[in-house]
Amino acid sequence: MNAIEVHRLSKAYGPITAVSKFSLSVESGEIVALAGPDGAGKTSLFRSICNLIDFEEGEVRILGHDVRSEFDIIKPMLGYMPETFSLYPDLSVEENLKFFAGIFGVRRTDFEIRKKYLYEFSGLGAFARRRAQHLSGGMKQKLALCCNLIHQPKVLILDEPTKGVDPLSRRQFWEILKRLRDEGTAILAATPYMDELNHARRTAFMAGGRKLAEGTLQDLIASYTGSIFVLPALPKEEKIGLLAASKELKVQRVGASLRIHAPKAMSLDEIAKSLSDAGIESAGLRQVSPNLEDIFVELIAREGLESNA
Ligand code: ATP
Repeated sequence: MNAIEVHRLSKAYGPITAVSKFSLSVESGEIVALAGPDGAGKTSLFRSICNLIDFEEGEVRILGHDVRSEFDIIKPMLGYMPETFSLYPDLSVEENLKFFAGIFGVRRTDFEIRKKYLYEFSGLGAFARRRAQHLSGGMKQKLALCCNLIHQPKVLILDEPTKGVDPLSRRQFWEILKRLRDEGTAILAATPYMDELNHARRTAFMAGGRKLAEGTLQDLIASYTGSIFVLPALPKEEKIGLLAASKELKVQRVGASLRIHAPKAMSLDEIAKSLSDAGIESAGLRQVSPNLEDIFVELIAREGLESNA
């Protein structure tokens, strides 16, 4: 039995379709990532899964229970951290935890045990008396996560939990998630950071309310239909313009280099010829593997989609 089972879910706001026939499953002890541009429908999907908004079509089951008709059973098993999770800034770390323990109906003795565990687990113990408003961004997110773990949920849904957090704190945050996963928690997490997709067993790409692709990183990389070349130099703008005028090539400036997206059949020599036709030296030109951003951009272009935020 899957811990999260979403079957052909559709959600609209009047004429705006936010989620369209979306299916996804997450097993216990698995992390699945959801990636998509702003307005892709991630938040609407998560709120539907957590029964915070109604949806028109489809079905959601959490640990086998229907989210709409059996939410009372599901509620104690579910943790949801929205994108803008509100801590109480004037309350200390411990008081925030206590507050959420009250909301989730955690008994006092269980709270003490759980609190100790979470302090050790997150490194927040040393800051127990510090007001939330005086924590760093990374610590605030860890506290928000701990508030959502106080009742020991078996299913965790996280909407861009590391957005705006520094890289080291992001890595620490994911280490915590992996520990939860190893303890059997099912985790569905949206992220705007392509590097974070490496932490998930599977990734679903979403845009325009639809699922464009799903798979392991290897599956997704194998699905890429083009070839990518990198020139370790930035030619003059007019020359880049000439190159970009070619229908077959898309060019992207990345730092001090040029990334060239070409059809799969094109060879290094053919790219060098196109560069030369545009008056560009091809010294150092090399082919590279696509990264997740390349795959995502290609998927969006293939579907003719743009962000609808
Ligand atoms: P973001 O990360 O920017 O929040 P998202 O992927 O979470 O994006 P949603 O917030 O679910 O996407 O939005 C999906 C679509 O639904 C967008 O077009 C958005 O403008 C629209 N939308 C979201 N909430 C509402 C609402 N309450 N009323 C009307 N339209 C909405």
